Amino acid sequence: MKDIYLDCNATTSVLPAAVAAASAAMAHGYGNPSSTHATGLQAKAMMDGVRALARRLLGAGEGRLMFNSGATEGIQTAVLSALCALRERRDAGHRIGALLLYGATEHKAVPESLAHWNRLLGLNLTLRQLPVGTDGRHDLDVLGELIGDTAMLCTMAANNETGVISDLSAIAQLLQERGAHAYWMVDCVQALGKLQLNLAATRIDYAPFSGHKLYAPKGIGMLYVRAGAPFTPLIMGGGQETGLRSGTENMAGIAALGAVLAALDDGSTFRSHAELLSFRTRLVASLEAALPGIVFNMPFDRSLPTTVNFSVPGLSSKELLDLFDAAGVRVSSGSACSAAKALPSYVLAAMQVPAWRASSAIRLSFGPLTDEATILAACERIEHCGEALRGSCLLPSILSPLSPLAALRDGVTALSVDGHTTWLLTDAASASCVVIDPLAALVPRIAAFIGCQDYTVRAIVQTETSPQADAAHQMLAAALEITQLDEFDAHGTLAFGAGLRRLACGDASMYLLGQEFAFIGTLAPQAAIAALAEALRLDTVLCASRDDGSVCNTVRAAQQQAAASAAPQLDAAGLEAFLRAQPDAIVVDVREAYEHAACATRVFDGCTVHSVPLSRLAGEVAGWLREPQRPLVFVCRSGNRSARAAACLHRLGHKAAWQLNGGLAMATLATLPSLAFAA
Ligand code: PLP
Repeated sequence: MKDIYLDCNATTSVLPAAVAAASAAMAHGYGNPSSTHATGLQAKAMMDGVRALARRLLGAGEGRLMFNSGATEGIQTAVLSALCALRERRDAGHRIGALLLYGATEHKAVPESLAHWNRLLGLNLTLRQLPVGTDGRHDLDVLGELIGDTAMLCTMAANNETGVISDLSAIAQLLQERGAHAYWMVDCVQALGKLQLNLAATRIDYAPFSGHKLYAPKGIGMLYVRAGAPFTPLIMGGGQETGLRSGTENMAGIAALGAVLAALDDGSTFRSHAELLSFRTRLVASLEAALPGIVFNMPFDRSLPTTVNFSVPGLSSKELLDLFDAAGVRVSSGSACSAAKALPSYVLAAMQVPAWRASSAIRLSFGPLTDEATILAACERIEHCGEALRGSCLLPSILSPLSPLAALRDGVTALSVDGHTTWLLTDAASASCVVIDPLAALVPRIAAFIGCQDYTVRAIVQTETSPQADAAHQMLAAALEITQLDEFDAHGTLAFGAGLRRLACGDASMYLLGQEFAFIGTLAPQAAIAALAEALRLDTVLCASRDDGSVCNTVRAAQQQAAASAAPQLDAAGLEAFLRAQPDAIVVDVREAYEHAACATRVFDGCTVHSVPLSRLAGEVAGWLREPQRPLVFVCRSGNRSARAAACLHRLGHKAAWQLNGGLAMATLATLPSLAFAA
């Protein structure tokens, strides 16, 4: 299965002509452009040619254009230059304004550089965010109020998360009307090759660019500085780049960038705006078909055609990422995610997008080199992802009939969000279930899952009472239209599965499913063991409602106070030999069912792989712990979930729990043995 790369705002592949140009620069034109002999002169001629082309394409006019390592350096240099000039002006008794104003959706390189140089230069100016409207564009009213007191203004041409295009003409007009003296930097990283730029005709003082966002390699960039705008070099040394940026130039990078600029210039390599728009229309149609309820987080008429940012109700960005990744479609989350908690995207938060959308956003970005076949293949896979979700009952807005993926199984399933876990107990024989500690945020998910599989809900119980817990309980009952639930009898028992017992512990309750599982809420394991004492066995699995990443515990491990430690790792290259040497080993894929379903091809073919999603791991540990010497090899997409699974088993006393280092992402078909999935 070939990867479909739709994360071009993060970085792009390198244009074949750029690879060839870099390679030629390294193999033949390897001279130092500062050398005065023929080899050096040839190198300098190549560099001068690229600069001349860049100047023409960017409309640099009389301005300066220097090569550097990329936009982060360009931003640094621009900020340093402006701030040094501001300090000089202030020292000379001029009024400079008190604010360093930057757009609320700027790349982090901007506010971080402003704060850094403001501190280092002892300027003590005030950093202030310029808000954006719900369309992601700068709030010109606020800009109008603040511009008179602004020393430096930083805005971007187009946003990297949403593709929103700034209204630079309106900003320029406002600056002109107010006679503003502020230095103005415009981060043009996402605009190169996508928006027409004619820099010298504008009021822009500094414009950083980055090669790797437009098919040149990483480590090469450019900075435009308007003629007459102040400049202070960031790097001093041998005086290269006419003293603007010392250090021997990255000639391979410059050659490659030259090839990209030549392709831009020839007008036939990259797709036209109209073509890119039609690609977006097709992708959006497939997304809408696959993901009912999808909401787009950017205004289509004011955004680059190459960026689509969206959220899907009831699905976290991590789940969507895992799903797309399994289907071989590389996208990115619009937000930074950690295992336990998804941090909302500050860009979407600034656009006042509701919190759930800001923390579950996905960015899909293609580039002007992306071809129609890639877009069509992406659409097909996206639609397949939708089927996978429907099949595993994970789309709240769709209640599909029983699917083989989500076939009724006895089990204990953990649904976690923001450090809290809801436990779902299912009993296949009676097609019924019990929900323990439902969380409001998970109600649509739980309701979809239960409704989709036609389970009868026997009880919704809480280990602790609180207004929030009660409200979530009511929400779930309402979502499932439950009018009556079974009561626990006088002994605190409910006839469900192996028998569900409620045991009081102070104000809290705990629930025992047979003697196999104890749901201990937020109690510490030791306290729960002390309270439940003879009702437990050493191998009883303890399931907490607080998600600290440890999955679950057992009475034995809790009593021994087993410390967490990483399980040993296996490299993909060594997996086949390992399995040959240990034929009784069990390979466990801890990815969720919808990820399997989304896979266009099977990763393993020929040897048995057990599918136990991480969410169902607690239900399986007891069985594995009965054979503590039998090797278990956990695999997943990137190695995170398998690391958690293996560490859990390791901590609980399993002697041979391994994880596949780097996950399936690091493994290629060539490095993986032939394995087959067990149903
Ligand atoms: N500005 C924007 C808008 C970006 O998207 C990026 C890259 O993510 C940068 C700046 C930093 O660019 P570079 O990777 O060249 O340092």
